Amino acid sequence: MARKKRSSSGELSFSGLGVSPGIAIGPAYVREHGAIDIPELTIPASKVKAECTRLDAAVERAQRQMARLRAKAKTMPETAADELGFLVDAYEQMLMDSRLIRGAKQRITNQRINAEAAVQAEITEITNAFAAMDDAYIAARIDDIRGVGRRLILNLTQTPVKPFASVPKGSIVIADELTPADTAQLNPERIMGAAADLGGGEGHTAIMARALGLPTVLGAQDMLRHVHHGDMIMIDGTVGRVVINPGKATLDAATRQQKTYRRQAERLYRMRDLPAITRDGVEITLQANVELPIEMTMVKTSGAAGVGLLRSEFMFMSRDDVPSEDEQYESFRDVVLAAEGPVTIRTLDVGGEKPAESLLKGMDEKATSALGLRGIRLSLLQPDVLETQFRAILRAANHGPVRILLPMVSTVSEVRQAKAILKKAAAKLKRRKVALPDPIPPIGCMIEVPGAALAADALAQVSDFFAIGSNDLTMYTLAIDRGNEYVANLFDPLHPAVLRLIQFSAEAARRMDIPVSICGEMAGDPRYTALLMGLGFRELSMTALSIHRVKQRIRDIDLIAANRRAGQIMDQVDSGRIATLLDDMNSLA
Ligand code: PEP
Ligand code: MG
Repeated sequence: MARKKRSSSGELSFSGLGVSPGIAIGPAYVREHGAIDIPELTIPASKVKAECTRLDAAVERAQRQMARLRAKAKTMPETAADELGFLVDAYEQMLMDSRLIRGAKQRITNQRINAEAAVQAEITEITNAFAAMDDAYIAARIDDIRGVGRRLILNLTQTPVKPFASVPKGSIVIADELTPADTAQLNPERIMGAAADLGGGEGHTAIMARALGLPTVLGAQDMLRHVHHGDMIMIDGTVGRVVINPGKATLDAATRQQKTYRRQAERLYRMRDLPAITRDGVEITLQANVELPIEMTMVKTSGAAGVGLLRSEFMFMSRDDVPSEDEQYESFRDVVLAAEGPVTIRTLDVGGEKPAESLLKGMDEKATSALGLRGIRLSLLQPDVLETQFRAILRAANHGPVRILLPMVSTVSEVRQAKAILKKAAAKLKRRKVALPDPIPPIGCMIEVPGAALAADALAQVSDFFAIGSNDLTMYTLAIDRGNEYVANLFDPLHPAVLRLIQFSAEAARRMDIPVSICGEMAGDPRYTALLMGLGFRELSMTALSIHRVKQRIRDIDLIAANRRAGQIMDQVDSGRIATLLDDMNSLA
């Protein structure tokens, strides 16, 4: 399939992965690679001198940072030291009386704008001029210039910059890559949709976009360089299409489609108060996955019976300090109070594609890669952080039913260690005379590592419940990066290996008589609902916006037939055949 297409009306269209459904139309807000979103403020003439002094101070600070980096380079192996040395040389030169600094000062003086905005504007101008030169050496310098600019801006603001705070209302954010933390900052009241060159369909960026109900296309390769600030953009997050400067016919069709979606949403909304009950009368518990407390309004609208997965790590992103016990407690408490049912709070799942600066200090990317210190592994290395989290959770559990969930577990010993830390947290609260919930919340583990699924029998003996994470289970079983657009088409939870691991873990839970739910993206896709019912699941947790659709599907399912057909599916060895049988199962209700 052609990824880029130009129509006769001049519109340019790109195909990518539709990761969050819906249509969005609006002007582009282009987030340049590595750029920081900063507001442009007008300053009075009387403050121009002070603003230039502020820039000088930021430059001096950057020079001191470079000197420290040079000292650090001396302790490194020779090749790394050389590389770093070249970089420091280049940075130091740019921090002297360079075009960048002179230009920024001129902008402050002539345009009366704040120093951050002046530096940003100067960088954009220089890098655009460099890009136009079509020279490989010069092109390689563009990143250095951006790097210096970024450092200056961070020194100027001194506080973490809130990304996208200055995006004009109604915009569509266009970027090369959106991290999960970036996406968590997209306010759906201001931003209509998003598209990026990179990114897969099951990564946390996609999950976050779905949670916010923001039409989003990822993996639209090569799109960014064709878009300019302010270009009209149409995004179809259902089919995965981005159109730059859409013609009248495209806009008319998109507006019609928007109306159809709205009508569908209204129809589905009427499901809110209907029970999630199969045709043969078995009630299914549908809960919501939540990343940020602001999603609770949507959760309430969805009629979810509580929160089946609170991804607490999102509270730790986009900031460079660790939230205090009180701050975490307040957030958890608000979710517990707003939820109409129990809340399963997952401890930090930092690492992989979800970095949190405050916890990774001094560690490089490799340390916390997807196969590195992710989830419970990182938490057990930082027991104080985990204990603080447990204290906050225990306090929140005084306001309503709570369960504690551990991410990325692969061994029994990890669960035991976490339980010991939970005990310490409870003892500390007792000493502080803080009321403890009675009983102490159950503690369970995510089954999302293939080894955990295969050792589910053992894990079930030390866990109070299981929550199956089909996203990571698929990723790690099939060795397919969930956030990588190049292998997105291979990411397949219907692969027999994945289905067997899911079935195996669910059976282990049943044998030990502990509850088991599924909370990966599979749970929110009505295509899989009958199969999951047939495999015995009665608790599903998903993004709030999927609840009505899954409920509608459940109300059509006959469990006896679903069991029989799931049995047939589990006998298959080929995903293609499984997909056909599943489609068959779905067409027959
Ligand atoms: C999963 O892996 O399926 C899961 C629910 O966890 P997350 O998506 O947050 O990694
Ligand atoms: Mg996971």
